[in-house]
Amino acid sequence: MSANAAAAAPLRQPRIAIIGAGMSGICLGALLLKGGIRDFTVYEKAPAAGGTWRDNTYPGIACDVPSRFYQYTFAPNPEWSRSMAPGAEINAYFTKVARDTGVHDRIRFGAEVSDINWLDGQWSVTTADGTSETYDFVVSATGILHHPRYPDLDGLDTFGGAMFHSARWDHSVPLDGQRIAIVGTGSTGAQIVSDLAGRAEELVVFQRTPHWVMQLRNPEFSRVTRWLHRRSAAYDTLTYHGSRLFIESFSPALLHPGRARRFATWLIRRQLNKIEDPVLRKQLTPDFEPMCRRLIISTGYYDAVQRDDVQIVASPIDRVEPDGVRTTDGVLHECDVLVLATGFDSHAYLRPTAVTGPSGHTLDKAWAGGPRAYRTVAVPGLPNFFMFMGPNSPVGNYSLVAIAEAQAGFMLAWIERWQRGDVDTMAPSAEATDAFYRDVDAAMPDTVWATGCTSWYVGQGGRVELYPWAPKQFRAMLAKIEDEDFETTARS
Ligand code: NAP
Repeated sequence: MSANAAAAAPLRQPRIAIIGAGMSGICLGALLLKGGIRDFTVYEKAPAAGGTWRDNTYPGIACDVPSRFYQYTFAPNPEWSRSMAPGAEINAYFTKVARDTGVHDRIRFGAEVSDINWLDGQWSVTTADGTSETYDFVVSATGILHHPRYPDLDGLDTFGGAMFHSARWDHSVPLDGQRIAIVGTGSTGAQIVSDLAGRAEELVVFQRTPHWVMQLRNPEFSRVTRWLHRRSAAYDTLTYHGSRLFIESFSPALLHPGRARRFATWLIRRQLNKIEDPVLRKQLTPDFEPMCRRLIISTGYYDAVQRDDVQIVASPIDRVEPDGVRTTDGVLHECDVLVLATGFDSHAYLRPTAVTGPSGHTLDKAWAGGPRAYRTVAVPGLPNFFMFMGPNSPVGNYSLVAIAEAQAGFMLAWIERWQRGDVDTMAPSAEATDAFYRDVDAAMPDTVWATGCTSWYVGQGGRVELYPWAPKQFRAMLAKIEDEDFETTARS
């Protein structure tokens, strides 16, 4: 075939399965449609889209990244109400993008993917009801903070009042005037406490480990600001990049010891001075470096815990009883409602979905030593398979929306090659993946996350599952395909 004839050949239309209709799945779907690729299905086990923003509806939920930077570049939102928007608004934004772009029409709701199997050069995707369909590509967009982690507390089932995980909030339970106990003081616990203080008759906060907190104001955007954003896409773009640069200015502190980290540490430590009572201040002082765990951005946690009706309990929990929670010092903390703000299993990724590639190669086997992915997005031995928010994706407190867009760009570049007929299958080589992890392992000790703390950032064998370089490098890493890193096949 001549070069001209090849250039004129029609593009192949791939069939693509996306697992998950959260922020990442909607992102890829919208970009596929933008690129004229229409034959895809988004599998969503829940009856609605939105992912973590659909699941988490607890009081006080809000973004801890500036909203201007927590949006897709291709779908600016002039209507953000605040600097850090409330959760319901964020969920409405993502589901609106899904509707406006046409992604919503391609979501199969109530369809939980149980297995994906490589059969005769394609992926067979099977849902819990036993039906299967075949695809050229499968993309996991199942999110990181997805599987609620329940605490292993004696007597939990015996509690006589209302009890639920923060990600499964029971809105039928009255809160005002109730005695509410909260287990967990991470980002979620801090937001709940800030919101419920003053509403509950009494708030008891069980703190196993104190966290560092940066208390910030969260101003409302004026009508004029919103009008400006509506009128001028350029202004919106400007504020997007302004917020991006602001967040990126903290990267040096996270990534390397030195002046930037010393300054950020000083700034965060100073926040504790908001606590006037020295005993409470000591109780709230962590014994690890600021930012080692995810820094809590809160609008009112330190104000809330100084109220008379809020009590921090630092004694370990002994057991849960029908009337409340007993700590090891023998005190029974009676409560009507018990909230488990105990976080998520952040190392499950798309599991329990079973993934079996060619020659019976499974994801479970590949990850026996811990989750690993080539440049965060692909796994050796699994052709035409991509992941959003795979191992080592998060870049500290960075916007996951920006990360998803960078990852989507990489996936689209491969899908375009497939469309042109340049490749039929692609997968990263084991050597390239090992080389990536040699670099990750060499860079990680410099990061603040490796300064000695436990958190959801830390996985099997103490490996930190974050990205140890700057966001700019993350984008550059995925902007170009390194051909020598891939094993590919093509029909001709
Ligand atoms: P988390 O940071 O993992 O915190 C879980 C909390 O529960 C910790 O305080 C933990 O104590 C405590 N805990 C767990 N098991 C316990 C047990 N058996 N007994 C006593 N305490 C127990 O979870 P999260 O607060 O849900 O936050 C997870 C992540 O979600 C955040 O880091 C952030 O990335 C994201 N998030 C974001 C936003 C946002 O604004 N965008 C809001 C909420 C969450 P230890 O510290 O001792 O383990």
